[in-house]
Amino acid sequence: MSDERFGKCCMCGKVINKGDTYHKCTVSTCNSGRLKLIFCSPACWDAHLPTARHRSAGYTDHKAS
Ligand SMILES: [Zn+2]
Ligand SMILES: [Zn+2]
Repeated sequence: MSDERFGKCCMCGKVINKGDTYHKCTVSTCNSGRLKLIFCSPACWDAHLPTARHRSAGYTDHKAS
């Protein structure tokens, strides 16, 4: 099997393959733990907000590579 898998969306579990666009939370604690928080879509990032209790947050687009 090829190694095209980049990771999994932390909200819905959808596989993110290399070359896909994914999204990251701009809050630093979401990017500094052992858990990589990555999202397959802005909708999944949106669903993350209430669970993380951010007061203000955004997301950034990234290309999986
Ligand atoms: Zn997702
Ligand atoms: Zn977050």
